[in-house]
Amino acid sequence: MALLDDILVHNAYFVAERQRPITRAPAKKIVLFTCMDTRLVEFLEPAMGLRRGDAKIIKNAGTTVIDPYGGVIRSLVVAVYGLGCEEIYVVGHLDCGMGQLDDRKLERSMLERGVRHETIAKLAPSLGEWLGTFRDAHGNVKRVVNLLRDNPLIPRDVPVHGLMFDPVSGGLELLERGYAS
Ligand SMILES: [Zn+2]
Repeated sequence: MALLDDILVHNAYFVAERQRPITRAPAKKIVLFTCMDTRLVEFLEPAMGLRRGDAKIIKNAGTTVIDPYGGVIRSLVVAVYGLGCEEIYVVGHLDCGMGQLDDRKLERSMLERGVRHETIAKLAPSLGEWLGTFRDAHGNVKRVVNLLRDNPLIPRDVPVHGLMFDPVSGGLELLERGYAS
């Protein structure tokens, strides 16, 4: 098939996608929590079979939860109680930048750019912990899954799954199956 035909076939699919009813509530009733890594954009979603309108997606640096009442939990609370999400997927990935981040170097850079020592000192308990850096990406996903399962704001009947994504091959490894056995 010539390139022009490829484009026309793709466009027919694209237009058909537009005709799916899109509402604010996610069609698959799931919320995905993952990393802001650029390699995951338009790659993790198709790897999981998720299309526009299917899922709520929360992203941050490293798929980490530091504050049990912070921004990630706030978004999960809205997704679950406000938008009907019935499952939570925590998806970390291999070669995550937060696993290699040098927080001392980052601190030096902050100071050079005018951030005050006292301001950094207020980030409890330490800059590294506040940033959510980790050495073990798998361990981080398991830690976050357990934190969500134990969080008093998340209902016990919502399965929390943990997965590890390969940003090169697109493969998913199951780490924690959230369904009650
Ligand atoms: Zn990452």
